Amino acid sequence: MMRIDALRDYHEIERDRLPARYLVAKSVPVEVLEGDLDELWREHDEAMEEFRARWEERPSPTDVEPASPNLLELKVTIARRLLERCTFCERRCEVDRTRERGFCRVPPSPRVSSEFLHMGEERVLVPSHTIFFCGCTFRCVYCQNWDIAFHPENGVKVEPERLARIIRHRRSEGARNVNWVGGDPTPNLHYILRVLTVLDVNVPQVWNSNMYLTEEAMRLLDGVIDVYLTDFKYGRNECAERYSSAPEYWEIVTRNHLEARRQCEMIVRHLVLPGHVECCTHRILEWIAENLGTDTPLNVMPQYRPEHRAHEYPEINRRPSAEELESAWKKARELGFRHYRL
Ligand code: SF4
Repeated sequence: MMRIDALRDYHEIERDRLPARYLVAKSVPVEVLEGDLDELWREHDEAMEEFRARWEERPSPTDVEPASPNLLELKVTIARRLLERCTFCERRCEVDRTRERGFCRVPPSPRVSSEFLHMGEERVLVPSHTIFFCGCTFRCVYCQNWDIAFHPENGVKVEPERLARIIRHRRSEGARNVNWVGGDPTPNLHYILRVLTVLDVNVPQVWNSNMYLTEEAMRLLDGVIDVYLTDFKYGRNECAERYSSAPEYWEIVTRNHLEARRQCEMIVRHLVLPGHVECCTHRILEWIAENLGTDTPLNVMPQYRPEHRAHEYPEINRRPSAEELESAWKKARELGFRHYRL
């Protein structure tokens, strides 16, 4: 079984030597679950201090008993408030998602497209219990999962208690982690936190995302997620606007990568786009080397293929060439990355 030093906590949790963060969050008591949003955030930030103190002690899984009410329940309460004026991602639609839909068009009761033990993720993650949600905060013209990403009404509603039972069962079948993905998991943040309140199994939580979340959403994930599995796509805002309709991409996604690194461990994915090796791949690798470090587990992926509406964009309507891929991997080697193909 593959192990990576930079994922030490992840390996400890999957081997049941350290509790998953969400279990520690459940053990932190809070005073209130009601009040205005500012009061709830104040309570949250105080409880996060206690969370960090407990985490630094590196408790054993048997040391963490749920408190009532607890920090995870407080996070659910705050997420429900944010849902009423949705600011989960930087689209900041501010619509009441209990009644209407924003840019992502995800309904308040999310639809699960599929869940299974995925054997095609990075070796360090498989078997990975991937839970695919319908809907996305991006509109990538080359989306490889367009059938679920752009049809949020597809899939089925699953009650949190039922999904918790499924997670427990998958863990007993050998899942090394729970891998929240889509589309993108961000529009379903409130639901995912709710599932975790009724889950009790020790299993690492992986957030598999485009990282276009708001700072508020990142705060709610702090103390819950064990590994960010990020999809770092573009080195220039022009590219992000053109292919994913994602304004201010670079500022938002670099900010969130720094925050993810502060919170926990991470694996960064980057899909090499044809014709975008210099402007995107090289710039991203340089930024990661400088800001996250060359011990960051990185997966520079070759498998781009033109899908969905890529034929409308002639410059990306082909696979990357062998020269382009070699240039991407050579850059990773030159910068000193220890792991760049996972
Ligand atoms: S998750 Fe993002 S895109 Fe969807 S409604 Fe909320 S702010 Fe808008």
